[in-house]
This record gives sequence, structure tokens and C-alpha cells, in this order.
Amino acid sequence: MPPLPFALFAALSLAGLALVRSLLRHRQEAALAREAADAASRREALRQHETKLAHALRINSMGEMASGIAHELTQPLTALLSQSQAGRRIAAANGLADSPIDTVLAANVQQAKRAADILVRLRAYVGRSAAEAGVHDLARHVADIVALSRIDLDRRGIALAVDLPGAPAPARVDPVEIEQVIHNLIRNAADAVEQAGRANGRVAVALAPEGAGHAITVRDNGAGIPPEILPRLFEPFFSSKPDGMGLGLSLCESIVERFDGSISAENGAEGGAVFTVRLPGARDMREREEATE
Ligand code: ADP
Repeated sequence: MPPLPFALFAALSLAGLALVRSLLRHRQEAALAREAADAASRREALRQHETKLAHALRINSMGEMASGIAHELTQPLTALLSQSQAGRRIAAANGLADSPIDTVLAANVQQAKRAADILVRLRAYVGRSAAEAGVHDLARHVADIVALSRIDLDRRGIALAVDLPGAPAPARVDPVEIEQVIHNLIRNAADAVEQAGRANGRVAVALAPEGAGHAITVRDNGAGIPPEILPRLFEPFFSSKPDGMGLGLSLCESIVERFDGSISAENGAEGGAVFTVRLPGARDMREREEATE
């Protein structure tokens, strides 16, 4: 072969080889990058799974402990309550109705009732199974619990606004438990407003469709949530209130999660806290009607 075409042929072959090598390297690099991305997303999925497991474990062990405590304390507490009530009756029968001893016994009765109420909440914390759930209209149950809470908020001089959709909002829930969640959120909101000493205290509850589900928001014009406690709000027994149990929000979370929903907290743009409960929507209206009849 004459030298010029040979040199051309050799140069073209070399260029071709270089091109093929570079293509192969690019392919290899792309495959490696894909693998790394897959591994990262697998690690992230594992981390999320572990977080969920740790959370479930925490909820379960807290639940078991709560159930044990509630069981052990119920009997002595009932005895304390009935003995104190009997003491008051004996005092009254002996003309000591408003005496200091009656005042002491009345305080005992009041505190024993408070402790019993705490036990009820502890028991509720253990939770029931989602098997009791049916498809219910969230709008109706939010309206019901808002009407109930209004009595307490009126007494405390706090305005309670409600914004509900015109159409039914079907979701698979236990309505009593969902009412308990909204009630807890409204009560916390009212506490926050009171603590902030607002003259124009206001709590607003809204229910609106969100994607295929529903979002219930409870917002207040209290002082908001300090950033350092924001990550701890849903921990069992976390409370910033002097007489707080710290079970309200963790109970709300375990209830909502049992119905495949979620609950989150943030500070509103205009101050105050905003709690959002998200629940998946249910499609079968017939089932809803049967369940709510
Ligand atoms: P508790 O009401 O017994 O303290 P919760 O679990 O219901 O228990 O609430 C935990 C904590 O979350 C409260 O002590 C409070 O610090 C904070 N929190 C709850 N709701 C609000 C709110 N609307 N605004 C500000 N902080 C709140």
C-alpha cells in the first residue's frame, strides 16, 4: 500500500478505535453512575424503613407500658375515689358539709378524677385496631367535634372558625378516633392561644380535598412552636406544659397512621402553629352510606 493512503487508513482506524473506547468508557461511567444512584435510593429506602420500624417499635412499647400502668393503677384509684366520696357523705351526715375536712376530701375526689382521666387517655393510647374502621364522611365528624369544642372555647373567650367543603369527604376511619384527633388539636391550639395571652384568640379548622385524599388543618394565633421543640412534638410524654401529659400528639399520630394518614406541624406564615392531618380518600360511596347508617 502506498504510504499516504496507508497513513490515512491508520489514522482513521486509530480515530475509530479512540471513538469506540470513549463510547465504551461513557457507557461504563453511565452504568456506574446508575448503580451509584440505585444504591443511594436503596439506602434511602432502607433508612426510611428503619425510621418507620423504630417509630412503630417506640409506639408499641409505649403502648404496652401505658396499658400496664393503666391496669395497675385503675383499682387503687377507684378505691381512693369511692373512699373519698364516702368520706364526704359521712362528713355531710355529721354536719361537716363545708368544713376543712370536706374541702380536703373534695380536692381528693377532684384529683382522683383527673388521674382517672389520664388513665383513660393512656388506655386510648394503646389504640384499637383499624378493623373497626368503616368509610365515613369526615366533613360530618369534623363539624360534630367543632360544635363540641366550641362550648369549651366560648368559655375561654377564643373564637373558633370552621371551613368545610360542601360535598361529603369519605375516608376509611374510625370516626370516634378521628374526632379525638381533631379535639386534641383544637385543645392544644386553644392552650397555645391562652398561653400567648392573645386578646383576639382564634383557632381555625378547615377540611379540604388534597390530591386523592383530604387535609384537615387546625391553625391558631398563639406564639407558634419554638424551632428547638418542633422535632420532639410527637414524642410520647414530651410536653412543655407544667401539667401536660405529652401524650396528645403522639396519640394523634398513632391514630392517623393506623388509617394510612399522616400528621405534621409547622409554624404559620402569620405566626401561630398549623397542624395538618392528611388522610387517604375512600371512593366507595355506597360503602360509606352503609357504614354511617
Ligand atoms: P400536652 O398537651 O400534654 O403537652 P401534646 O402531645 O398534645 O401534649 O403536645 C406536646 C407539646 O407540643 C405541647 O406541650 C406544646 O409544647 C406543643 N404544642 C402542641 N400544640 C401546639 C400549638 N398549637 N402551638 C404551640 N405548641 C404546641
